[in-house]
Amino acid sequence: MEIYKNIQEMKSYLKEMRKEGKKIGFVPTMGYLHEGHLSLIRRAAVENDLVVVSIFVNPRQFGPGEDFERYPRNIEQDIRLSQEAGANVLFVPGINEMYPEGFNTYVEVKQLTETLCGKSRPGHFLGVTTVVNKLFHIVNPDRAYFGQKDAQQVIVIQRMVKDLNIDVEVVVCPIVREADGLAMSSRNVYLNSEERGQAIVLFHALNMAKERIEQGERDAMRLKKQIEMMIQQQPLANIDYVSIVDGENLEEVKEINHKVLIALAVKFGTTRLIDNMIVEV
Ligand code: AMP
Repeated sequence: MEIYKNIQEMKSYLKEMRKEGKKIGFVPTMGYLHEGHLSLIRRAAVENDLVVVSIFVNPRQFGPGEDFERYPRNIEQDIRLSQEAGANVLFVPGINEMYPEGFNTYVEVKQLTETLCGKSRPGHFLGVTTVVNKLFHIVNPDRAYFGQKDAQQVIVIQRMVKDLNIDVEVVVCPIVREADGLAMSSRNVYLNSEERGQAIVLFHALNMAKERIEQGERDAMRLKKQIEMMIQQQPLANIDYVSIVDGENLEEVKEINHKVLIALAVKFGTTRLIDNMIVEV
């Protein structure tokens, strides 16, 4: 497997590959890879000739007081796992390579970034869209793979790709969960055993909500209250938000009468977890 830290070298290598007619699949990550990431890499390997995985803990998508410094890292393990999953190239730039002195350009998607996680993490999506834009320019992929785990991120990236006429197909992959249903996340390692035990309520609450909708519940406010009550029964859970929004424009819905996204962000101790489910009516 090829490993690049330098942007110019990464670009020239991929230019050669493209000349050979190779289709490039790209999986951007922050590393500390788990089965969720690996599912994206495996799919990219099936659908493309060359798979590029980036590992970059992007400081600009973390707010002050968030977990940038303690975000888990294990590059040796990431190299092994990504190679086994079918990656051909790892791009692992340093912070100064991505943001050299004088860096001053941002890409901002409006509106869609002002709700849900954008509300509780101001500046987060500005960091995400800026870095993904840079990565798209560096890798110039035919397809880019993102997880439904970060539902709002997917919608924001799709908007950016459309608005800026970026020539890439965005492929969205399903949420990969632990055996008991907890959505896989690099941040799950922060949870102590008590928090880990209680965190399963997120999946249970989403399932309960889906069942209620299937049984005919259409009142979003009432369902939201039920979800909140269920989560609050876990003493270590601290709700950031529970939202039922339109699956396309992320606007809060009153009546559940089309495709909705039920999205949650809940803190267990100091660890903020997100999860979501799409329900079609
Ligand atoms: P991250 O390293 O957290 O930035 O995630 C990199 C990519 O992996 C993003 O597109 C995530 O949505 C995706 N991802 C993370 N966790 C999961 C999961 N449990 N299932 C599916 N995709 C995931």
